[in-house]
Amino acid sequence: MSKIRIYTIAKELGIENAEMLSILDDLGIEYKSVSSTIEEDTVELIKGIVAEGRGSAPAVAQTDQPQPEKQEEVNTDTVQNDQAKTEKSRVDQTPAQADSGLSAEELAELAELEAEEAAEQAAAAARAELPHRAPVVTIMGHVDHGKTSLLDYIRSSKVAAKEAGGITQHVGAFEAKTSKGRVVFIDTPGHEAFTSIRARGANVADIAVIVIAADDSLMPQTREAIAHAQAAKVPMLVAINKVDLAQADPERVKADLTTINLVPEDYGGDVITVPVSARTGEGVEDLLEYISLTAELEDLRADPKGEFGGVIIESRVDKQAGVLATVMVQEGTLKVGDFLVVGENYGKVKAMTDSAGGRIKEAGPSTPVQILGFSESPSSGELVSRTENEHAARELIAGREEKRREEEEARKKPKLSLDDILGP
Ligand code: GDP
Ligand code: MG
Repeated sequence: MSKIRIYTIAKELGIENAEMLSILDDLGIEYKSVSSTIEEDTVELIKGIVAEGRGSAPAVAQTDQPQPEKQEEVNTDTVQNDQAKTEKSRVDQTPAQADSGLSAEELAELAELEAEEAAEQAAAAARAELPHRAPVVTIMGHVDHGKTSLLDYIRSSKVAAKEAGGITQHVGAFEAKTSKGRVVFIDTPGHEAFTSIRARGANVADIAVIVIAADDSLMPQTREAIAHAQAAKVPMLVAINKVDLAQADPERVKADLTTINLVPEDYGGDVITVPVSARTGEGVEDLLEYISLTAELEDLRADPKGEFGGVIIESRVDKQAGVLATVMVQEGTLKVGDFLVVGENYGKVKAMTDSAGGRIKEAGPSTPVQILGFSESPSSGELVSRTENEHAARELIAGREEKRREEEEARKKPKLSLDDILGP
């Protein structure tokens, strides 16, 4: 389950870090420093010990007997005992005192972590004020289990095409309008996009739908997809597809899931499984509902007025138009005329279309847009940032080029051999 930092618990319980560490020592629990984390179960145990200590005499185990140096301090001191006590309690309040039992290094680390935590809390508080954003969903699973069919069904039933003839171009993502709001689907073939994007350190999906064919159950790529979602810490929903088939056996799929520690709700676990058919559309509405529910629990928010941030979903070169890149807007708002930098390339957004092919002037968070303006094709997963103007874009790129060259140089340098170090 969840883990908590030692100093956080100490603070919560109103005890010194040193006392906290001595309790852990008594319990035989290993730690590296006050910033180490411990299990939630252990926290409960410690809370019990501290409460008990407060209820009865002074405190816990070791602290029952004053430490020798402390006793000496009081004895040799000329000040009166209670004065010493007042002083001690004052000292107790400042962790930067040697009295906390921590080394200078640990204290510095503690201060840094506390500052970090405060900043995180402030950021979380600020974030709670931001508007919600639509979830971005990726569909993964074994080949032929129905990923494309499911996406097609959702697209055809939930997207109003704006292009003449109703045929929308493939842009790697689309927006579905549901009764609970927008849901954005990443729709690049297989889960390549998801993995290549992840490999570059960006997380584009908020929710993963694992498609499992009810007549085939768990297959190698199913396990792979599950592993990817778990590694990305993305919540998962299981769509048990092809339930229209006579040989469909959704119960077997659920039983099989339990063998890989994914326990469906009706087996007492917390994994949501939704029986669907991409052929008849059965259950698709339920799936969309569960996606919205999961998104709600995730409390997805973004700042449309904040600094722009996006990620490349895919790109291609159109013979007439030039480079067409699909960008997922993650933060802020992207506008026509903006200068964008991707890696060591930049471009000015000349035109922008939404995933249904409609021309738009601006796009907020969780919106996939196809943009025209890059001179070179960016790769999926590359991060997109915005600069004030062309000059700033060039400067940013120059900095990146220099950094890359330095890194290349560093890699080229031959490693020192033992002879180099020891001399002739
Ligand atoms: P993908 O490889 O996961 O994208 O799978 P596809 O969407 O290409 O589907 C593979 C095959 O299964 C195709 O022949 C689909 O027509 C079929 N298929 C997909 N979903 C269903 C379904 O719900 N019911 C039935 N009977 N067939 C389906
Ligand atoms: Mg497919």
